[in-house]
Amino acid sequence: MAKKSEYASEYEHIVKVDKNCIDAAFNFCEGYKKFMNSSKTERECVDTILDTIKDNGYKEFNSEIKSLKPGNKLYVNNRGKSIVLITIGKESLDKGVNFVVSHIDSPRLDLKPNPVYESDDIAYFKTHYYGGIKKYQWPTIPLSMHGRIFREDGTYIDICIGEKDNEPKFIITDLLPHLAYEQDKRSLKDGIKGEELNIVIGSIPVVDLDDEIKNAVKENTLKILYDTFKIKERDFARAEIEFVPANTAVDIGFDRSMIAAYGQDDKVCAYPALIAEIENVNPQKTSITVFTDKEEIGSEGNTGMVSEYLFDIMEDLADLAGVKVRDCYKNSICLSSDVNSAYDPTFADVFEKRNSSQINHGVVLTKYTGHAGKSGSNDASAETMAKVIKLMDDRKVIWQIGELGKVDIGGGGTIAKYISQRNIDVVDLGVAVLSMHSPYEVTAKLDVYHTYLAYKAFLLND
Ligand code: MN
Ligand code: MN
Repeated sequence: MAKKSEYASEYEHIVKVDKNCIDAAFNFCEGYKKFMNSSKTERECVDTILDTIKDNGYKEFNSEIKSLKPGNKLYVNNRGKSIVLITIGKESLDKGVNFVVSHIDSPRLDLKPNPVYESDDIAYFKTHYYGGIKKYQWPTIPLSMHGRIFREDGTYIDICIGEKDNEPKFIITDLLPHLAYEQDKRSLKDGIKGEELNIVIGSIPVVDLDDEIKNAVKENTLKILYDTFKIKERDFARAEIEFVPANTAVDIGFDRSMIAAYGQDDKVCAYPALIAEIENVNPQKTSITVFTDKEEIGSEGNTGMVSEYLFDIMEDLADLAGVKVRDCYKNSICLSSDVNSAYDPTFADVFEKRNSSQINHGVVLTKYTGHAGKSGSNDASAETMAKVIKLMDDRKVIWQIGELGKVDIGGGGTIAKYISQRNIDVVDLGVAVLSMHSPYEVTAKLDVYHTYLAYKAFLLND
């Protein structure tokens, strides 16, 4: 056996360091899979979170609350699309708080505002994709329809169709290989083009004895939509409808060590953060656990981190505590709880292995993201890295470092930079994901569990 170096250090498979966590990890991930199946969209995820916290003493934080005590648990629901959970600590707010911020939106296909059309006796929906997708991955898989649509009279309906076994699904077609000689010459990026992501929604015409109705298949589809949901074509202009893969979270591998599910970026961090927050009772420091929206399109919009919604809540908390919010910020620390790309041996070329995260090697600490020369990145300080590593080492959390691919090969970003604008220390910490942003992303159960342990350790930070 090779002698262990006193100075060098390798990042190892979790089982080599913590043999005994397998059962606990597998058990933890049963809850995670259930969470995933009821949280395909940000709205559904907020509902799942509200349902999960309902027996844990959380009260809505609003203007009627005039004082707060250590141990109080609060929530703020921002438009049903992002949510903030708060546990008041023993220490004064100006000494700083612990933020854990994950995002609950995922790449998908949104409907255009005038989506219904018929072409040659087939009815379709037009889509505009949301977030970074590889378009060729989306045809020929079953899709489900989710979202909210308002009617002319001001009432609305929440739609979720295609998730249950007996419900219809939807699909985008692709060309058969026999006739794809020209399509095969396209670059992978344009293998399927944006305007080819058209969803098949019907193929039987409405009964019309006089043969007078133009687009009778579209008419029949609209009739079914009206009979089922009491919605008409114009109502799609007052809607947010998302099409996502109609798959469920499943175990992967003979050893069942991995999970495949849609939307693990970033709900694989949101779920451990949620459980760690619920279990955070009577902490020293106040914890602020945020589940935000719109990260996948640059955190824009009033439910994303570019919005002031989180910082308004912080100001309200500071006002109640009689302290300056800026004093709170400068003493706070934030985990931007987001995923990183796991090293994939099949596509080894794009990774610099020594600095890439690997599945089953622990929660990933990502100092910087960004493009070419760290551009657009938060780039955490040595002090912040040291603080977070110490918290994890003290509580035997297994962690690894991660970088998003080789220098100059691509890049990406997280919400970290929007938090840092407030003079808050922040670093990315989350799960390594294979096939990220695909319809079926893959993670390792041991990593999910150690991410939960990392957030627990962080919230105990005093
Ligand atoms: Mn993400
Ligand atoms: Mn993402």
